[in-house]
Amino acid sequence: MYKLYDLSHVIDPKNAPRKFRVETIGADTVNHNVVRLEGQWYIMSDITMVSHIGTHIEMPYHLFPDGADLATIDINTLCGPAVLLSLKDVPAGEPITVPRLEEAIARAGGIKPGDVVVCNLGYSDKYGTDEYSKSPYFTPEAIKLLVDSGMKLMAVDAGGVEVPRSEEHVNHIQLLEKNICLIENIAHLDDLPTDHFYLTAFPIPVAGVESFPVRVVAYVEE
Ligand SMILES: [Zn+2]
Repeated sequence: MYKLYDLSHVIDPKNAPRKFRVETIGADTVNHNVVRLEGQWYIMSDITMVSHIGTHIEMPYHLFPDGADLATIDINTLCGPAVLLSLKDVPAGEPITVPRLEEAIARAGGIKPGDVVVCNLGYSDKYGTDEYSKSPYFTPEAIKLLVDSGMKLMAVDAGGVEVPRSEEHVNHIQLLEKNICLIENIAHLDDLPTDHFYLTAFPIPVAGVESFPVRVVAYVEE
């Protein structure tokens, strides 16, 4: 049996960090064959949103015009055995270097090819505060180490993994050019009772779109 853990932040449209507008409309305004009785609560939603909001997953198409989008990505790359790396000892704003990363990997017992790598910077509870943007970041060498380990998906409990002010997006490029998608703003990692679990992160398959909010779920054997 498995116990499931929800690793996504709630998106509250009334207090969203980026555009996420929900307009409640009557079902009959969408489907004209629908009969909506006087006073009947039978609603649909008209949503306008930015695709990078809340806990979201980025596809290669974010930076590569020929890269896989939400509809064409191989879903086998969006799930798998996950290893949780604790990087909570890295101070705010500092780089996650190769030695710091190697230590965390050793503590977790290593990364196997095909693993999902989930990085816990200890920032989930800071989401929505000014402190959140001051999280540590990864050096390009550290990202290379993860890519070379054969990981197939990466997640981080921060707004991103990029080197601050890198207009070349060096870290994103290293991941996405290898078809390694990136989950940003993963949440509640401290709730997990183990550093090994199964993870799924399936966004809806929208053609021609590079990112979408995602319900990330950890399956913990018990
Ligand atoms: Zn993003």
